[in-house]
Amino acid sequence: MIEYRSDTFTKPTPGMLQTMFQTQVGDDVFNEDPSVNTLQSMLAQKFGMEAGLFCPSGTMTNQIAIRCHTEPGGEVICDKMSHVYIYEGGGIAFNSLCQVKPIEGDRGRIKAPQVTDAINPNDIHKAKTQLVSLENTANRGGGSCYHFPDIQEIKEVCLENKLKLHLDGARLFNAIVAKDENPKDYGNIFDSISICLSKGLGAPVGSVLLGTNNFIEKARRVRKVFGGGMRQAGYMAAAGIYALENNIDRLALDHRHAKEIAQALLKKEFVGEMMPVETNIIIFQVKGNYTAKTLTEEFKKQDILVTAISPSQIRMVLHLDVTKEMVEETIKVIEGL
Ligand SMILES: *Cc1c(COP(=O)(O)O)cnc(C)c1O
Repeated sequence: MIEYRSDTFTKPTPGMLQTMFQTQVGDDVFNEDPSVNTLQSMLAQKFGMEAGLFCPSGTMTNQIAIRCHTEPGGEVICDKMSHVYIYEGGGIAFNSLCQVKPIEGDRGRIKAPQVTDAINPNDIHKAKTQLVSLENTANRGGGSCYHFPDIQEIKEVCLENKLKLHLDGARLFNAIVAKDENPKDYGNIFDSISICLSKGLGAPVGSVLLGTNNFIEKARRVRKVFGGGMRQAGYMAAAGIYALENNIDRLALDHRHAKEIAQALLKKEFVGEMMPVETNIIIFQVKGNYTAKTLTEEFKKQDILVTAISPSQIRMVLHLDVTKEMVEETIKVIEGL
């Protein structure tokens, strides 16, 4: 089977497993796991931020950040297709007692004037606007990347209005590699950043939340309350360290593979509109003889797994377990359909 359902399906490579077995561990709830501490400071340094916090998932890092940046009754501004809004089980309401002002962005990306318009006036009838949350790359935008100056403009609006700015950077390294950016520019702008190690970077588990020392101290308390305090988590952190050392630059290969498959798809009658392929995600409309469901089944018969994300849309995600040979095989299958 060739797996395109998600970049979360990657399995640890022998090199990663060996690193995990050999790593030093301790009780991380007592701050005594050397591997966790190394991973946290490694990522904090990369982004020029003060501190990091290793958590079991990206949902948890996002939810902790939102909890720390807001007070009950507040409002969070984000794109209407944001993971924090549509894929975290209503967590903003459940965990932070806040509501969302969803914005219609361009492939998951919002702009400064939209943020300005979405801020509530200081009026007791209105929820107090407290936080802006961005996503880069944007999952439902087909792996779209923010234009960095747009983020800088949003930051200006946040500063003028005393709003915090969070980045759901589940796939931030995909954007950084695709656009040849400097991680420190992100660290400079955002109050908090969440990074997933368990997607295209290939680690089995884990995300890291980055911020100031004060913020991370608060986040550590919230992580404990959420049940995310782990003990010898260093085995997992070691996989994350290995991922950061070995699997960032190769994301460019996933992006190239995605473009090659996209080109083959675009020649087919049954492929309608496709979102621009900027990173490792392909999202396209299915038309003609197939529906998203029947095309997914057809692919499956030929040992290729894709996801129907709506009755008319298919998503394919590239990652490090998809080799050049598998991409060539996929293109052959597409040509034969
Ligand atoms: C995957 C993902 C997350 C976090 O997901 P978990 O499964 O909880 O680790 C957050 N944001 C985006 C955009 C994602 O794609």
